[in-house]
Amino acid sequence: MKNYDYLVVGAGLFGAVFSNEAHKAGKKCLVIDKRNHIGGNVYCENVEGINVHKYGAHIFHTSNKEIWDYVNSFTEFNRYTNSPVANYKGELYNLPFNMNTFYQLWKVTTPEEAKKKIDEQVSRLGITNPQNLEEQALSLVGEDIYHKLIKEYTEKQWGRPARELPAFIIKRLPLRFTFDNNYFDDKYQGIPVGGYNVLVEKMLANADVRLGVDFFEQRNELCALADKVVYTGMIDQYFDYRFGKLEYRSLRFEHQHLPIANYQGNAVVNYTDKETPFTRIIEHKHFEFGTQPSTVITKEYPEEWTDKQEPYYPINDSKNDDLYKKYRELSLNESNVIFGGRLAEYKYYDMHHVIAHALKKARVELDSAK
Ligand code: FAD
Ligand code: UDP
Repeated sequence: MKNYDYLVVGAGLFGAVFSNEAHKAGKKCLVIDKRNHIGGNVYCENVEGINVHKYGAHIFHTSNKEIWDYVNSFTEFNRYTNSPVANYKGELYNLPFNMNTFYQLWKVTTPEEAKKKIDEQVSRLGITNPQNLEEQALSLVGEDIYHKLIKEYTEKQWGRPARELPAFIIKRLPLRFTFDNNYFDDKYQGIPVGGYNVLVEKMLANADVRLGVDFFEQRNELCALADKVVYTGMIDQYFDYRFGKLEYRSLRFEHQHLPIANYQGNAVVNYTDKETPFTRIIEHKHFEFGTQPSTVITKEYPEEWTDKQEPYYPINDSKNDDLYKKYRELSLNESNVIFGGRLAEYKYYDMHHVIAHALKKARVELDSAK
């Protein structure tokens, strides 16, 4: 008999949700992570009372009531609503694209005038079947918005021409003809009170957790401890890059602790021009309406991924998606391993997607193990 039912590789949201479900079904989990903390990319570091989102701003949003109730069963969420501001060469615009943005761009004051302006620009271009991010964006919002608020930000973020990027990336951004700066269309939104660590600590409360442990450095010893493996790391690495490496986009975070109470008056300010080398500045205290005397800001610099960096974003273009399919085929033959999460499924998932998938996979697995 082995010590554990499951070895969970990765203490991010997928691993934490799976472990919690397994515990409820009477199973024992050993959770490992190569980092020295739990939470994966949602981990926060507390700096003088401010929860600093160490791996980029995380705003929880979902329209799925089951997922919202699930996360709220661990900890309360606050009423934070994401309303980023874009700075284009010193001009400020509200995001997502809404009546405030249209007024700032064109001084139009009614939805009819705004629609007319966009329709004129869109019809001039005559794009009927958008094939890439550039065509998708232009056919949705026209040239002015595309050039000031999308093209340069997108090309900085992804390090590729917008014409070579998949259209779905931009479909995340709402376009609305009301004065509403809420970035998300979802029904539920907020930040866990006390930060994300509280959420993940509660999910992992009943698992054994070992930090600073890399699966690939002691693969055989670790696998010998459990009947099955739940793997949430990079799928290509699991198979020793047999078919070649998947591409990711990485980020460098530059954190600064400043002796002022309020640096930019908003949690998220995007710099949408190409001359500014970072994409956005996050001021963390505003996620929790902080009133501390000092503040922490983070500049996000996009970078190409190499195996020395963290693989933050999968690049879901057709070349990488085809390669992923080959790894996925291999993964189907690993009957003792469950692959899940942003890296193992190579998908640009939000937190609510990852939680929903983890719950689904855990139910299938735990029902069949009964
Ligand atoms: P991860 O959090 O990446 O966890 C995987 C864990 O596995 C990591 O801790 C890693 O160290 C560990 N691991 C990997 N390989 C090994 C190994 N060999 N041995 C041991 N451990 C290993 N989602 C939202 O809903 N809202 C947002 O606002 C939002 N903002 C984001 C901003 C940024 C900059 C990024 C990068 C992502 C954002 N997301 C957001 C997405 C969100 O981070 C993910 O959906 C979610 O955290 C993924 O959870 P996961 O468990 O799949 O992966
Ligand atoms: N985007 C943009 N301008 C902005 C913000 C976003 O063009 O000011 C585009 C960009 O292509 C980005 C995508 O929209 O990759 C999704 O942005 P979001 O901030 O939702 O994604 P995140 O980086 O937080 O995952």
